[in-house]
Amino acid sequence: MAFHRFKALEAVLTRVPVEVNLPSNKVSEFFGENVFGIDAMREYLSDEGFNSVMAAMEKGTQIDRKMADQVAASMKAWANAKGATHYTHWFQPLTGTTAEKHDAFFEPTEGGRAIERFGGGQLVQQEPDASSFPNGGIRNTFEARGYTAWDPTSPAFVIGKTLCIPTIFVSYTGEALDFKTPLLKALSAIDKAAVDVCQYFDKNVTKVNATLGWEQEYFLVDDALFNARPDLSMTGRALFGHIPAKGQQLDDHYFGSIPDRATWFMRDFEIESLKLGIPIKTRHNEVAPNQFECAPVFEECNLAVDHNQLLMDVMEKVARRHNFRVLLHEKPYAGVNGSGKHNNWSLGTNTGKNLLSPGKTPKTNLQFLTFFINTVKAVHDNADLLRACIATANNDHRLGANEAPPAIMSVFLGTQLSNVLDELESKVKSGKMSPDEKTALKLGVGKIPDILLDNTDRNRTSPFAFTGNKFEFRAVGSSQNCAGPMTVLNAIMADQLVKFKKDVDALIANNVDKDEAIFQVLRQCIVDSKKIRFEGNGYGEDWVKEAAKRGLSNIKTTPLALEAFVSKKTMDLFERNGIMSEREQHARYDIYLETYTKKIQIESRVMADLALNHIIPTAIKYQSLLIENVRGLKEIMSAADFKKSSQIQMEMIVEISEHINTIKTKVDEMTEARKKANAILEVKKQALDYCDKVKSYFDVIRYHVDKLEILVDDESWPLPKYRELLFTK
Ligand code: ADP
Ligand code: MG
Repeated sequence: MAFHRFKALEAVLTRVPVEVNLPSNKVSEFFGENVFGIDAMREYLSDEGFNSVMAAMEKGTQIDRKMADQVAASMKAWANAKGATHYTHWFQPLTGTTAEKHDAFFEPTEGGRAIERFGGGQLVQQEPDASSFPNGGIRNTFEARGYTAWDPTSPAFVIGKTLCIPTIFVSYTGEALDFKTPLLKALSAIDKAAVDVCQYFDKNVTKVNATLGWEQEYFLVDDALFNARPDLSMTGRALFGHIPAKGQQLDDHYFGSIPDRATWFMRDFEIESLKLGIPIKTRHNEVAPNQFECAPVFEECNLAVDHNQLLMDVMEKVARRHNFRVLLHEKPYAGVNGSGKHNNWSLGTNTGKNLLSPGKTPKTNLQFLTFFINTVKAVHDNADLLRACIATANNDHRLGANEAPPAIMSVFLGTQLSNVLDELESKVKSGKMSPDEKTALKLGVGKIPDILLDNTDRNRTSPFAFTGNKFEFRAVGSSQNCAGPMTVLNAIMADQLVKFKKDVDALIANNVDKDEAIFQVLRQCIVDSKKIRFEGNGYGEDWVKEAAKRGLSNIKTTPLALEAFVSKKTMDLFERNGIMSEREQHARYDIYLETYTKKIQIESRVMADLALNHIIPTAIKYQSLLIENVRGLKEIMSAADFKKSSQIQMEMIVEISEHINTIKTKVDEMTEARKKANAILEVKKQALDYCDKVKSYFDVIRYHVDKLEILVDDESWPLPKYRELLFTK
């Protein structure tokens, strides 16, 4: 018998919380201690070296080779002092996780000796033999290998005994093979476009950083229960499981007190994260039982993305010390809330201003309106691309499931700002807006954020919501690399700002006053993007109908959603803004499709395995018990008594047979469908086949397995049940 759930449950019930000590009550005393940040650089680098790294971080200037040698030597000295013996280029391949290949600092020399070596060459560039990372055909046709190159805008750090150097991962022909490369390009595009637009309002703005504050949701499950569920351990989600009598109806987990063991785990991974310079700040329970969330203070987007990748890694590692597994999957349990990763996004200037935060003066408020309205327009024009960048096999289960944003893209602005936009639209149109009215409108905007910042006035059902001083992209999945969505969001915003500036400049060239020109173009943006605005309940059925009427897309599955990545419109947009070439974009599209196919393929195999090797044998054993019982009754009873007494058992025997038959038949059909799909060579066709002809068996197989779960004797059911996964503490 497989690892029976009773053994697992016993293990859980005897667990003792693993307590951890805070290194100090003052976080400032250990925050960032494992990061080669400003303080460490000042201590270890010469002034020249320090200035050159700072210039690379802030202005993107190149670090020359001699300087790189110096930085490498200092970095190594610092890392050695922290106990590091190895170094690695840390990068983000398109698998969605992070990758490392560790090299020791030493190099063998003649005579069986070794010297310590880590020079500029090793710092700046490395060739991981990473040919098994997905590349969408790029490296097959051109060069056999890719290389990683140092990204000085994100500081190096030490984990365990390894110095990790954040890098990009590109092919020898220069094509991006990772998430970071296009993100950096998108960030540079938004910087330039936003600075240009800021010039209308403030000449002192010379740099604009996109900012990101993510909120990470996750589930915890005990190690032993996790191991007793092959589906959880192989696919990250429970493929079977009957909904328990008590789920999340009572909402008693949300913001409730955090269970002891979980608290120690959180404390532990927070300490590790803080040491790595991740400004983690918030923790609380989420809606579903055993579901939690953590969030940091927002940071510059590239750094925030790295920090989220790092955090997911740290969480998984630290969880093991506490006999937990972290489930980052978007929908580990059907029928229970899924997990997202809200991406709070804004734009900050070198002058310390948040461009999406209305200010107190009319001038800053026109600037706010400009960035605000342009965001709405960018989302409107590129809704399908935004949908594509959150499309994964996992997220398909979550989007549109009662508690998650729908697959329909819309923007929530709040009543006040909606009114401002309506007013701007009608007044500018009739040409009736006097200078006083304009000033009043701009001033009125200044009062809004207080209302929106108040948590209670928020719409939580929108996939993309304004929350007072930032937009919150809520449809992002919990296991996703934020770089994907952030690349798209910053790229479409950069593109929109460029267009906006062009239109305004054209009017100015025609002797229209600057303010008036801005108002006119903004008005046009408002008119053009109206259908994307939605203030109502995004979870309701009514919205689905209303959205269809408005002509908004509602793309439910990943293979179809991904198409927006390779539309002519997207290709042009990425090309125009220097984000990605057509070839890179196509390669990426293929990789996403392949990943989708593989995920469904694995789920389908695990499902078949479990059904045939765990579920059916268990059901047959129990059915045999019933048959034995009936036989016994027949032996000892009169015919009339027997008929009465065996009726229920007979019905159960038949019912079990029916479920077993259906399960077996459907599993066989699914396996056949898989074989057919596997034979398809074209990636898109294959993904569609997996979506429409393989995945379509999941629900029916699950339905019958879950029926068996409630029919069969609890004693013999091998897999931990939902109530155990969700409520055992
Ligand atoms: P909640 O959404 O739960 O009310 P907050 O509004 O405080 O919480 O913030 C949620 C997340 O948004 C946090 O990670 C926070 O750092 C981030 N955030 C706040 N301001 C900005 C900003 N200007 N840019 C990006 N993220 C931000
Ligand atoms: Mg939030």
